[in-house]
Amino acid sequence: MSVLPVFFFGHGNPMNAISANGYTDAWNRIGRSLPRPAAILAVSAHWYVPATAVTAAAKPRTIHDFGGFPRELYEVEYPAPGSPDLAETVAELLAPVPVARDLRWGLDHGTWSVLCHVFPEADVPVVQLSLDETQPARYHYELGQRLAPLRDRGVLVVASGNVVHNLHSYAWGRATAEPLDWLVRFESKVRQLLLDGDDAALVDYENLGADAALSVPTPEHYLPLLYVLGMRQPGDPIGFPVEGVDGGSVSMLSVRIG
Ligand code: ZN
Repeated sequence: MSVLPVFFFGHGNPMNAISANGYTDAWNRIGRSLPRPAAILAVSAHWYVPATAVTAAAKPRTIHDFGGFPRELYEVEYPAPGSPDLAETVAELLAPVPVARDLRWGLDHGTWSVLCHVFPEADVPVVQLSLDETQPARYHYELGQRLAPLRDRGVLVVASGNVVHNLHSYAWGRATAEPLDWLVRFESKVRQLLLDGDDAALVDYENLGADAALSVPTPEHYLPLLYVLGMRQPGDPIGFPVEGVDGGSVSMLSVRIG
């Protein structure tokens, strides 16, 4: 079996789940370009809890973890099966880090608002991995490194967040608002560091200056990027299959490694 690439998706507004736009078209094209994976491990910005956990349910529920959206969005179901086997494999790879097997969480919108376009048939088993909010950035990068063998085992790792995510500056209702200048600078810095393979600087993003502080006001949407970074192998190409900015302050950049 060939080595699978890994992806970071900028998911942005949950309404993308029920929209057809440049982002969702690109996500769909990515899905059609890939061999069918045996399973998917999703790392979502929206499961940010004080533990490292995996969803272990055979039938994870679709979680509508947001407020104030149209009814239509609450009716979206992404009925992909779970994979208790993959949950166990993830726990083994992450040892000695204790990994909770969670039966209450399911698939949150960080995962399904993207996967409903990448794999619309919802027939590939999906396991989610939480982000431990008590841990520093380096921990998340190191977990990614430990998960790298999944790429040889037919498991597609999909991280979902946003390289830049500042809702305080977000132009609500104006998706096409001009990107803010600090976003443009920080996003291009991140792209350059990715191309340079400067993982240390990306892990230490808090020391990238004032633009970083505005772009990553809270860590959870940035941290999923560190998982895919940790899974990079020597010689892996890097690409940006989706680009764009939503509401002036949310980067929709996607990153493909391998
Ligand atoms: Zn989000």
